[in-house]
Amino acid sequence: MKIALGSVASFNYHLKDVDGNTIEKSEQPLEYLHGYNNIIPGLENALLNLQVGDAKSVTVQPEDGYGLLEEDLISNVPKSNFPPDAEIVAGMQFQTMTEEGPLVVTVVEVTDTEVIVDGNHPMAGQTLVFDIEITGVRQATEQELEHGHIHHGGHDH
Ligand code: ZN
Repeated sequence: MKIALGSVASFNYHLKDVDGNTIEKSEQPLEYLHGYNNIIPGLENALLNLQVGDAKSVTVQPEDGYGLLEEDLISNVPKSNFPPDAEIVAGMQFQTMTEEGPLVVTVVEVTDTEVIVDGNHPMAGQTLVFDIEITGVRQATEQELEHGHIHHGGHDH
């Protein structure tokens, strides 16, 4: 059975940067519903028509991955906007409200007067290399297709 629209496929992956450094490795196969934007487009497109046992290396450009780095999403916030007793350190993440809805931002730097936050996805702007291997393909259930995502056994929403 080949991966197509409405398939539930599972695969192992080894994600690397263009220099071959490991970013992430799946501990167990990732399962997703094909054709419903549940994974990044560059990867989803490359998985079409593969079947169990197929392995390949897929290079995903930022545009087809987590997006380009947007300078607009990096901002300097006055320290006075934070509660005085808040301990803000680089690497912290929190959710903020923007005109376009909630956004998760990461603190990149803290100065005496400002906190510099970045709302880009941590992998934005990066070209990603996925070594993947297909471990399973099945037809999605009616309910999964209706919901646009997979169900692991029980289901309560
Ligand atoms: Zn559901």
